Amino acid sequence: MGLISKGAKCSVTGCDNDGVRSLTASKVDGTGVGIPHGLKKAILCKEHYKEWKKATKDDRDTEKARFSRF
Ligand SMILES: [Zn+2]
Repeated sequence: MGLISKGAKCSVTGCDNDGVRSLTASKVDGTGVGIPHGLKKAILCKEHYKEWKKATKDDRDTEKARFSRF
């Protein structure tokens, strides 16, 4: 909340949409959502946020499956 300054654009390389979510870049790194290296905060547009959410959901499911095995 309040992290998106007015007019902030999506951090994803080649994307010029308005940002709707600001995330710690390390959370976005490695999810397949391509942000430039060296960012602290990644700003994602609606589409890329959806993509990120989908990617992290898969991660969580994998983790959960791994945990339940132990
Ligand atoms: Zn985007």
